Amino acid sequence: MAGIELGGLSTVYPNGVRAVDALDVSISDGEFFALLGPSGCGKTTLLRTIAGLEPASSGTVEIGGRDVTRVEPGRRRVAMVFQDYALFPHMTVAQNIAYPLRVRREPRSRQRSVAEETSASLGLAGLLERRPGQLSGGQQQRVALARAIAMEADVLLLDEPLSNLDARLRLEARTFLKRLQRDLGLTTVFVTHDQAEALALADRIAVMDSGRIRQLGSPKEVFQRPNSTFVANFIGSTPMNLLDGVVRAGAVEVAGARLATPAAAGLPDGTPVVAGIRPEYLSLSPNGDGIPGAVSIVENLGISSLVTLECADGTLVGATVLEHDEPEIGSKLIAAPHPGRFLLYGADGLLLGATGALSQA
Ligand code: ADP
Ligand code: MG
Repeated sequence: MAGIELGGLSTVYPNGVRAVDALDVSISDGEFFALLGPSGCGKTTLLRTIAGLEPASSGTVEIGGRDVTRVEPGRRRVAMVFQDYALFPHMTVAQNIAYPLRVRREPRSRQRSVAEETSASLGLAGLLERRPGQLSGGQQQRVALARAIAMEADVLLLDEPLSNLDARLRLEARTFLKRLQRDLGLTTVFVTHDQAEALALADRIAVMDSGRIRQLGSPKEVFQRPNSTFVANFIGSTPMNLLDGVVRAGAVEVAGARLATPAAAGLPDGTPVVAGIRPEYLSLSPNGDGIPGAVSIVENLGISSLVTLECADGTLVGATVLEHDEPEIGSKLIAAPHPGRFLLYGADGLLLGATGALSQA
């Protein structure tokens, strides 16, 4: 089987855009690896460089211990599913799935049997004679996956494979994909700009920005401990509170509260910092220690609600509560971070440390 090693890998386009910038990454055999990042950060280029569809400008790509940097795409044992599926519109589902075998000049009988087996395992059995135009988006996506699997590749590269599906189908396809990947044990690199998808599917997530990896870790690590405000902003379905504060006497003054944290202890008075607290990690109560404010908005998120507190200095702080705990608009409450869930970032946006201890201003 096949892990992927990228060593100092850069891909520079002829127009000078450095889309992949000196990446060192080691992806394990059988791992489900998500590449997450904003549009234009280099996700597709990185995938295409691993597949050999884009030449590496410098550095190396190894697959299964073999240096394939100069190996042509067809000989890398890599299958790629593109964002638009790239099915052949004039071919039937069966012909699309069997296409890799036809290219390898395998017998027609074998082409047919592989198309039948793969389509059955992907829930496409009755659709073999249809053309892509006669399929739903979800079905087309499965045909593209079936074709990738029929290649019997070691590595599966998926470029935003779920982005053209509607919300419900997307959830179904996500679960399906996860199961399939587990069953086949395929090393998979999955590109998405959707943080929820990455959190749900991946063994590890690489958060990319401008051709570089800003953070690499398990979904838990990047959610609970983003190493920069960039990553913090990018992960989480409700945005993390990033509150401007200043260090005074070893604690952080922010929105009328004084938050004690070891991360601030060594910093000189007046150092500007940013306190990062997820809305899920703030508890609201009428009294106690914490950030005081008045309820200005309550947004229903389904089973929970996002409450926005407006503090005396105008700072807005979001906290999630269960639906039956929704406070009245205008009520005065205190938002207290859960122990260990308050992160401190420097003015450069990089993580300084985390803690939970809190004392009143
Ligand atoms: P993503 O998939 O994360 O949206 P891309 O890999 O498509 O990002 O693009 C990364 C950067 O490379 C962008 O700045 C994009 O404009 C540029 N780029 C992509 N393809 C080409 C190309 N063929 N020629 C020149 N620049 C390109
Ligand atoms: Mg892309």
